[in-house]
Amino acid sequence: MSIAENIRNIKSKLPPSARLVAVSKFHPVENILEAYAAGQRIFAESRPQEFLSKIKVINSLNCHSDIEWHFIGHLQTNKLKMVLPYVSMVQSVDSEHLLRSIDTWGRENGKITNVLLEIHISGEETKQGFLADEVTDLLSRVGNFGNVRVCGLMGMATFTDEESVVRGDFERIRTLFTQLGEGVMAGRKEFCELSIGMSDDYMIAVEYGATMVRIGTDIFGPRVY
Ligand SMILES: *Cc1c(COP(=O)(O)O)cnc(C)c1O
Repeated sequence: MSIAENIRNIKSKLPPSARLVAVSKFHPVENILEAYAAGQRIFAESRPQEFLSKIKVINSLNCHSDIEWHFIGHLQTNKLKMVLPYVSMVQSVDSEHLLRSIDTWGRENGKITNVLLEIHISGEETKQGFLADEVTDLLSRVGNFGNVRVCGLMGMATFTDEESVVRGDFERIRTLFTQLGEGVMAGRKEFCELSIGMSDDYMIAVEYGATMVRIGTDIFGPRVY
């Protein structure tokens, strides 16, 4: 199936409350343009250097200014300037240090960056992210930043075929999201995004209230690393 057909197929299954984020990492600019031509507008990348070189090509074409870029990979603070000028959201804020650095960068460069806090929901040790207690503590200590807008949570479920494990992961992040929304983030209208679900589990994520699903493989095919 073509990229356009894949997008149409996925969108037909998503409720209006869940936006599709097309994960284009490891795929060439031509594929991004094909998805754009099919109406896709939100794209996500995960590696600063790759992101920057694609952005430069796409911006030089001068006709895709309505693309909304999200960053979803591990971001080192010495790479902020490669990423922050071009993104409308960083979904993968996984430490207080990174959060504060994005805020500082924003103050110096006159930009307010939307972010999601990445939550470690899987049982795997390798995945990044805050634990539930850490994020609650962080947001109660520093609820407000001048140049960062905390818009919600992002999480990746355990990589497994066992659906009950995936459901458990999504259930935990949804519970945390609800608790924060009714607790330390109460009254903060911008705290409304729950980014969960990838190619293998996005229809499950939708059941747990995903407002964004991040899909790469099911749109662009397998990645060649
Ligand atoms: C690569 C990636 C995705 C997309 O994964 P697929 O399984 O290809 O849909 C989603 N989220 C994050 C954070 C990723 O790094």
